[in-house]
Amino acid sequence: MSAHPLLDLPPLTAERFASIEKGVARLLGTRQDVVITQGEALLPLEACIRSGARPGSTALNVVTGPYGTTFGNWLRDCGATVVDLEVPFDTAVTAGQVADVLAAHPETGFVSLVHAEAATGNTNPVAAVGEVVRAHGALFMLDAVASVGAEPLLPDEWGVDLCVIGAQKAMGGPAGVSAVSVSDRAWERFAANPAAPRRSYLSLLDWKERWIDGGRKALLHAPAQLEMLALEACLDRLAEEGPDAVAARHAAAAAATRAGAAALGVAPYVAVAAEAAPVATTLRVPEAALVAAKALAADPSVPLAAGGGALADSMLRVNHYGAAAALPAVASALTALAGALSVPAAPALAAAESAWSAALRG
Ligand SMILES: *Cc1c(COP(=O)(O)O)cnc(C)c1O
Repeated sequence: MSAHPLLDLPPLTAERFASIEKGVARLLGTRQDVVITQGEALLPLEACIRSGARPGSTALNVVTGPYGTTFGNWLRDCGATVVDLEVPFDTAVTAGQVADVLAAHPETGFVSLVHAEAATGNTNPVAAVGEVVRAHGALFMLDAVASVGAEPLLPDEWGVDLCVIGAQKAMGGPAGVSAVSVSDRAWERFAANPAAPRRSYLSLLDWKERWIDGGRKALLHAPAQLEMLALEACLDRLAEEGPDAVAARHAAAAAATRAGAAALGVAPYVAVAAEAAPVATTLRVPEAALVAAKALAADPSVPLAAGGGALADSMLRVNHYGAAAALPAVASALTALAGALSVPAAPALAAAESAWSAALRG
C-alpha cells in the first residue's frame, strides 16, 4: 500500500474537534453553543426546522429565493401551519412586512429567513428583522450560508437563535461540513418538543446532551477528518486575512461586477445595490442559459452560471466568492460575458477596475 496525503489519517481527537468549534464561534462572534454538523449546510437547516417545528405550531417562513421554498416544505412536513411571506426575488424583505405578518399571526413561534441568497443575489436586513422577531418572542432561524464571510454577520447582536453556516462559499472552505449556533432559548424549545429528532443524524439535541453537556469529551461518531481539517485551515486563513478584509474583498467584487455589467449594457437583477448580496451578482440577460454556455465554452474556468430553474431564461450569475472574490476572476467573467454577447470587453474591464479600487478605498 502506498502512502497518500489524504489517506490513513489518524482519527481527529475530541480536543481538536472542540477547538475547531471554538474557531467557528469566534468567527461568528457568538457566545452561544456552536454545533458542527458533518454534512452540507442543508443538514443543520433541516435539523433546526425539525427540532423547532411540531404539529400545531405556527411558523413564518420568509421566501426571498429558492431556499425559502425548501424550508416551507420541511416546516409543513413537521405538521406546522406555515405562513409564507413571499417577496419578489429581486428585492429584500423589510422588517415592516415581517412585523405585519407577526401581528396578523400572533401564534407564530418560529421564523425562518435566508440572509443572502446566492441563487438570486439579494440580501436581507437581518438586524431589523431580528428586532421585530425578538419583540414577538418567536425563535429566529437564519440561513447565513451565503453571507458568512461575505458581509457582516452578528447573530448574537441581531437576536438570531439559530445561525446556520457552511464553509463552501465566501469562507472558501469545504462543502461537506457546516455549523449552527444555538441559543439557550432554542435549546429549551427543542427539549420541550416531543417531535424533535433524537438518536438521529438530524438531532441537535443529541449533540447538546452527549457532546456539549458531557464536557465535549466524546464525539457522537467518527469525525470527518478531511472536512474538519479543511475547515480548520479555512478558519485560520480567514483569521490571517482578517474577516473585515475578506468582507471588503467580496463587496469590492460585487461593485466591480455591477459596474462592469453596466458598461456592457447589462442590468443587475437586483436593482437596488443595498439589496444586492456581496457573495454573487445576478444579471438580467435574455437567453441567459445560452449566453452562459457560450461564455463557459470560451473559458470554462470563469465563475459564471445561468440562473436555476425558470430563471435560466433571464438571469445569469457571477459567483465572485471565496478565491473568486478577486479582480482577475471578475474580469475573466466580464470578458467571457462580453464575448458571448458580442460586445467589446474593454469598457467593462475599465469600469470594473475603477469600481474595485473605489470600493477598497472605502
Ligand atoms: C449555498 C447555499 C446553501 C447550501 O446549499 P448548496 O445546495 O450546497 O448550494 C444553503 N443556503 C443558501 C442560502 C445557500 O446560498
